[in-house]
Amino acid sequence: MTKSEKIKKWVEVVIQTEKNSNSSIICPECEVGKLIIKDEIIEGHPVKIDRYFICDNCGKWNVALMSKIVKDGN
Ligand SMILES: [Zn+2]
Repeated sequence: MTKSEKIKKWVEVVIQTEKNSNSSIICPECEVGKLIIKDEIIEGHPVKIDRYFICDNCGKWNVALMSKIVKDGN
């Protein structure tokens, strides 16, 4: 796999979790492990979070800046 193909796969991962953060995602690097999703709050930033994607098999990870999902109260 070329580097740009890998980047494309990671982008697809980000898009997938944007739609459904509960979906289980196969690691684009080793294609065996599952990605663990970890959201980190950015201090002082009300609408963005850092979302980490960590492979439970090969340990590769990536981070993407995501919009915080605001749930409707009513
Ligand atoms: Zn992996």
